Amino acid sequence: MYFKYIKSESIEVRDSVIQGKGVFAVKKIRKGQRIIEYIGERISPEEETDRYDDESMDRHHTFLFAIDDKVTIDAGRIGNDAKYVNHSCEPNCEAVDEEGRIFVEAIKTIQPGTELFYDYAFEQEPPLTQELIDMYPCRCGTKKCRGTILKVAEQSKPQKQTVKKRK
Ligand SMILES: [Zn+2]
Repeated sequence: MYFKYIKSESIEVRDSVIQGKGVFAVKKIRKGQRIIEYIGERISPEEETDRYDDESMDRHHTFLFAIDDKVTIDAGRIGNDAKYVNHSCEPNCEAVDEEGRIFVEAIKTIQPGTELFYDYAFEQEPPLTQELIDMYPCRCGTKKCRGTILKVAEQSKPQKQTVKKRK
């Protein structure tokens, strides 16, 4: 069913334990369960550049999910609860690309009251500079924290977010 994952009765949006809003389980979510689709407008890299200028933001903060180098989902204007799922370097969910649609799925059993996270893994070509790390910081506080939501590009992984090349 096409609209099955637009809203989930298993989650709700509350204040995050890290920052801003976050998504929390209100029911037990089993490992492997598909929770919600990342809904938004599908825009091109050109539209993305027109809407968001990284240079003018001191911290990167948008509701963008880049599927590939042609299509980005922008949940800033039209979106659902999926856009509030925060990043963690040690997440309990993952974002799965299924024919160009993005679904948040549990990779562990999640108890009610637990905040949901996936690894944004913003793709970045090496080298990872301090300037980039400062612009895309991570404060997830887990043992595996990389200090940034960026991840150096690996060709083997098909789905991930991308970061615009900075000039
Ligand atoms: Zn982290």
